Amino acid sequence: MSGPLPARVRVRAPGKINVFLEVGDVQDDGYHDVATAYQAVSLYEEVTATASDDVTIEIVGTSTVDVEGVPTDERNLAVRAARMLARVAGVTDGVHLAVRKAVPVAGGMGGGSADAAAALVACDALWGVGMPTADLARLAARLGADVPFALLGGTAVGTGRGDELSPALASGRFDWVLVPNSTGLSTPVVYGELDAHRERHAVDIGRATRAPAVDPDVLHALRQGDAQMLAATVRNDLQAPALHLRPDLARVLERGEGSGALAGIVSGSGPTLAFLASDETAAIDLQVSLSAAGYPALHVHGPVAGARVV
Ligand code: ATP
Repeated sequence: MSGPLPARVRVRAPGKINVFLEVGDVQDDGYHDVATAYQAVSLYEEVTATASDDVTIEIVGTSTVDVEGVPTDERNLAVRAARMLARVAGVTDGVHLAVRKAVPVAGGMGGGSADAAAALVACDALWGVGMPTADLARLAARLGADVPFALLGGTAVGTGRGDELSPALASGRFDWVLVPNSTGLSTPVVYGELDAHRERHAVDIGRATRAPAVDPDVLHALRQGDAQMLAATVRNDLQAPALHLRPDLARVLERGEGSGALAGIVSGSGPTLAFLASDETAAIDLQVSLSAAGYPALHVHGPVAGARVV
């Protein structure tokens, strides 16, 4: 890369909703094969990178996001992303990462993954690495299953652990109302609950006879930009275990569906609930009525772009 390097780079990366998530049997290594359709939505993490001797991080929340409990050491995914890029690219400089979180923590919307994707893009620009996108995507997959999608954005199908991506055709825009929850759910705990349920009912359920796959009707609805059609096909295998762990969420789902949502779904491993509205006006109405009922509701839309310098 030629020319002077920037003193500061700001990148934003979106949170995601899994509009379809089928979970296969647990593998010998404890992980599950999944088939998912991701949609990136207009709730963004923002990472500002400035030159520094070491790799350091500060995290601030927004009015709806409590960042207490988010690690600010080597466990933070954004720190790991910066260190990994430096190692692979032979960079000896450090970076200070200022992270502004708008995606709920442990909310099933891939907030930490978005931070990692944003940190990769920001450090790549700050250090003048110029790494090809495909190589950045490979680093992203080493950081976590949802990180490659936060880099790519838009609409995509994820297989394997969710990290083997193929972009999906999509048209139009989908309006969602999100209801975050102040107490997060741990992704491994939700998968563990799913395994325990399948174990208890092994005789009735049996082992899966095929690899998980995204329902073609979901892809058709996304291609058509048809919210009614999508509402009829959304599915999340983590919803039942998430509701089992957090029965209070069922009441919120009912409230949203009774207030005009076309469909309500647990986002990823939860506990954020995502309600699909027929259009922007319906989403605003739904947001108002959920807020009036005492639920903190956010109106977002998708699909939006992946991690980008702003
Ligand atoms: P996913 O949907 O990808 O499973 P999530 O949205 O449910 O993830 P995150 O907010 O990404 O959950 O983070 C889950 C946990 O990861 C947190 O409780 C925290 O301990 C740890 N973590 C590591 N780095 C970060 C980060 N940058 N932001 C938030 N959490 C982080």
